[in-house]
Amino acid sequence: MRIQVPLFKSAMIAIGAALTFCVAGHFAAEMLIDKQRSRQMVDIGEVALRRLETAIDYGALTLDEFAGRGRVSCEPSEMQSVRLHVYQRGSVKDIRLLTRDGMVRCSAYEETLEFDKGWASRDEMLPARTDQALRVFRVEQFSGVALGVLKDVDEEKSLAAIIGINSSLFDVMPGDLRDDSEVIMELTDGHAIARSSAAAQIDESAGGVMLRAESERYPIRATIRVSQKAFSQWDREPYYPIVSLAGFFGLLFGAVLAKLIARPPGPAVEIDRALEASEFVPYLQPICNLGSGAIVGCEVLARWVKADGTIVPPSRFIQLAEEHGRIAPLTWQILGKALTDLRPAMKADRNFKVSVNISPRHFAEPDFVDKLRGALATLRVSPRHVVVELTEREQIEDLAACAERVAQLNEYGIRVALDDVGIGHSGLSYIQTLGARIMKIDKFFVDTICRDASAIAVIGMLVRLSRELRMSVVAEGIETPDQRSALLRCGVSEGQGYLMSPPV
Ligand code: C2E
Ligand code: CA
Ligand code: CA
Repeated sequence: MRIQVPLFKSAMIAIGAALTFCVAGHFAAEMLIDKQRSRQMVDIGEVALRRLETAIDYGALTLDEFAGRGRVSCEPSEMQSVRLHVYQRGSVKDIRLLTRDGMVRCSAYEETLEFDKGWASRDEMLPARTDQALRVFRVEQFSGVALGVLKDVDEEKSLAAIIGINSSLFDVMPGDLRDDSEVIMELTDGHAIARSSAAAQIDESAGGVMLRAESERYPIRATIRVSQKAFSQWDREPYYPIVSLAGFFGLLFGAVLAKLIARPPGPAVEIDRALEASEFVPYLQPICNLGSGAIVGCEVLARWVKADGTIVPPSRFIQLAEEHGRIAPLTWQILGKALTDLRPAMKADRNFKVSVNISPRHFAEPDFVDKLRGALATLRVSPRHVVVELTEREQIEDLAACAERVAQLNEYGIRVALDDVGIGHSGLSYIQTLGARIMKIDKFFVDTICRDASAIAVIGMLVRLSRELRMSVVAEGIETPDQRSALLRCGVSEGQGYLMSPPV
C-alpha cells in the first residue's frame, strides 16, 4: 500500500526545511561574526596599547642609559652630550633634569621650555606599576600634547624625557572602520595623550561600541569607539556562505524527510491498521459429499478486503502476518466472523463442520488450545462443528508437542485435519503420530488423477491408510466431473473444488 505524497507536498517540506535551516544559519552566522569581531576588537586594543608601552619603554631606556653614565648635571658640557643623545633618538624630543619634586632645573634644548603650556607636578605624574622610580605624565605644549617619562636618578634628581606622540602611531583600525571609529590613548587618570585622526568622534550614547584595554605595566589605557552602524556592517564575509550552506543542507534534509514520509509504512503497520479496520474477512468454500452433492461443511479462507474494494489473496499476506507476529489476531478475527456468519448452517445441521486454517507457528503457541476454547465458548459454538486444518507443507518443529496439542483438541471434541497431504515433508508415520481425524488430499493428485496411474495409486494408498487410522478423507481442488468420479472410485467420499463452488 503506497501513500501518495504529491510532488507539491514534498517540495513544501524541502523548502520548509531549507528555510528553517537558513534561519538557524542566520543566527549561527551572526553569533560567529560577533565572536570574531569581539576578538578582533580586543586584538586592536592590545596593538594600540603595545605601541604606547613601547614608546614609554623607549623613553625609560634612554633615561636609564643616560643616568647610567654617572654624572648628571646642568653643566653646559653635560647638556651638550645630552643633546647629542637626543639627536640620536628619533622620538625623544627633549631630556630635562628635574629636582626630586619634579621642577625643571635645566633642559637639553632650553628653548623648548617656552613651548610648554604647563608642567605637571610630581603628584600628577603617575607611577609605573612595575617600577616606582618611573613615572608617566602628560606634557601640554602649544604645539600639542607630548608624553613625559620620568626616572628618579637619586635622592635629589630625576630625569624626564619628552616623547613626541604621532597620532598615526595609533591608526590601528582596519580600513572599513577607520572613518567611523576613534582610538584614544590616555593616562588612567583620564588625561588623553593621543587620539587617532579619525574623521568622526563617536557618540557613545548613539549606541556605539566601546572597548577599553588597560596596560599591566604603565598607568595607561586604550579606548576604542566604533559607531554602531559601521560595526554592524564590518567583517560580514562569512555571513552569506554560512547561510547558503545551511540552506543547502536544509534542502537536502527536507528532501530526505519528504522521501521518508512518502515511503509506504512497513507491512506490520499496514496489517495492524487492517486488523483495526476489520479488513480481514472469511471466504467460504463448501465441502461436499461427492456422491450426493450435499454440503457437509466448508473451509474458511482468508481474504483482505481493503477500503477501496481491492481483494487481496492469502498468498500475499498470510506469510507476512506470520513473520510479523500478527497471524494470531488475524486468525481470531476471521474465525470469529466465520462462526458468526455460519451460525444458521450449524443450527440446521448438527454435523456441519467449519474448517479453519491454522498456521503451524500459531498452533505451536502454548495458549492456542485455551484461546480457541475460549473463543468457542464466547460464540457459543459446539466444538464438534470445528475442524483445525494443519498444513503438512511446512515442517512441524516439535512433532511430539504438536501431537500432544492435537490430542487435547480431540479430547475436547475439536477435530484436526492434516492439510495438503502427499506433497509435504512428512511420511506416513507422521500422519500416524499426529493423531489427526481428517486427511486432506492435495489438489496436485486430484489434478492428475485422470491422466496418471500413479496418482490413483497414491490416493488409493492414502484412502486405505485413512481407514486403518480411522480418519476421513477430503479431496481438494476438484474441477471436473471426471475427477469427481475417479475420486469416488478410489473411495474418497468428500471433496471441495471449483466444480462444486469457489470460495464465496
Ligand atoms: P489451502 O488451505 O490448501 O486452501 C485451498 C486453496 O485452494 C484455496 O486458495 C482455494 O481457494 C483454492 N481452491 C479451492 N478449490 C480449487 C479449485 O478447484 N481449483 C483451484 N485452482 N484452486 C482451488 P486460497 O484461498 O488462495 O488460499 C491459499 C492458501 O492460503 C490456503 O491453501 C491456505 O494454506 C492459506 N490460507 C488461506 N486462508 C488462511 C487462513 O485463514 N489462515 C492460514 N493460516 N492460512 C490460510
Ligand atoms: Ca486448507
Ligand atoms: Ca490444501
